[in-house]
Amino acid sequence: MMFDVKTLMFFMALSALLMAGVITLADQGRAPQRSLSGLQLWTLSLLVQAAGWFVLVASNSLIPAGFAGPLALGCVSLCWSLRLQALDRCAGRDGMHWRAPVLVGVSVGISLLSPASEWLVGLHSLLYGLLACACARQVRRLPDHGHVTAQSIMALALLLLGGVLIARSAELLLARALWRQVEIWRTVLEQASFLSGYASTIIVTIGLVLLARAGHEEHLQRLAGTDALTGLLNRRSFLSRAGQALRPQTPAAVLMLDLDHFKIINDSFGHPVGDAVLRTVSATLASGLRREDLLARFGGEEFAALLPQTGARTALTIGERLRTAVAAQHAGAELGGRRCTISIGIAAGSGDLPIDVLITEADRALYTAKREGRNRCVLIEVPALVDGEPPQVPEPGKISSQAARLP
Ligand code: GH3
Ligand code: MG
Ligand code: MG
Repeated sequence: MMFDVKTLMFFMALSALLMAGVITLADQGRAPQRSLSGLQLWTLSLLVQAAGWFVLVASNSLIPAGFAGPLALGCVSLCWSLRLQALDRCAGRDGMHWRAPVLVGVSVGISLLSPASEWLVGLHSLLYGLLACACARQVRRLPDHGHVTAQSIMALALLLLGGVLIARSAELLLARALWRQVEIWRTVLEQASFLSGYASTIIVTIGLVLLARAGHEEHLQRLAGTDALTGLLNRRSFLSRAGQALRPQTPAAVLMLDLDHFKIINDSFGHPVGDAVLRTVSATLASGLRREDLLARFGGEEFAALLPQTGARTALTIGERLRTAVAAQHAGAELGGRRCTISIGIAAGSGDLPIDVLITEADRALYTAKREGRNRCVLIEVPALVDGEPPQVPEPGKISSQAARLP
């Protein structure tokens, strides 16, 4: 069964308009930005595509055919260049703004120079087929946000369209070369190119909305787990990650770190300087830890670190390294010569222990460090689990093992 070509063109325009509507609805509520997002550029490409096909539907009746053809083909070329731009932007890249004028120029050139409509349509099919393949490549480069299958289906839909369009261009150009007379609007490949055009427009649009949503959710989750001032993990994400980082039957240590007399820094130099100090201290602490360690801002001027697979002695060495690094960093003129120091409580034990037991013990060690004069590390070695039960926690003041300041 062959469909009438104007009906196919009308539905091509309609499907592009519908998909533009789908994106607009799905993308509602986004804060306005200075430049168009990838999805907004894709919407623009759909509107330009719809305009191109509507021009062809109206050719002969409303618009003279000799003018409608080149205008519509120029619109579709512009649509493909906008699609490439949109996919670039979805992948976080920008540039290649020359693509739109160059592609529209090539399209106008083909329209002016083509000796017959087979050449006009055949060369444009080739151009669009190559552009569809280029878009498929761009889709493969998008961040998948856990939707690898959706991404593959989008790329396949574009590749299928590219293949059909290239085959159609070969059909037209070869037929023209061999037989001189062809019925260009009623071939199987011509109908297939429309059908794969609908499919790719719908699949890629819905896929892009899905990927954008997943990316947005990932971004929100990252924000929800990050401390805004320092960029470190916050308490919530520290606690949820700590459970996965602790390994049974391997040592682990938790450090609670608290800035000494920070209130005085705030009172003397103001909150903005206090904030700057918090940021600098965070960076110093982060650079003194390993990739597998977790570091969080636990509260106002208090930080927590989890060191997996780390025994008591190493934890104390690392704690001392962090303490001296912070004391060295803020001895300068920024704080009028005042030293900014931290006290550190360390709980070292087994990865079998619940994280809250290690945190409670590190907190008690921190309390002792403060009481004993600040700017020091205090270590508690937490006993192992007894028959799977948490250990008997020593009374405050009777810390089972303690090592203040290494020499
Ligand atoms: P200690 O040595 O006993 O820990 O004394 P401290 O002054 O550090 O402790 P205290 O709990 O008395 O004061 C903590 C201060 O940290 C008070 C609060 O204003 C400040 N603070 C908490 N969060 C922030 C923040 O986000 N920015 C700034 N600039 N200051 C903060
Ligand atoms: Mg403090
Ligand atoms: Mg505190």
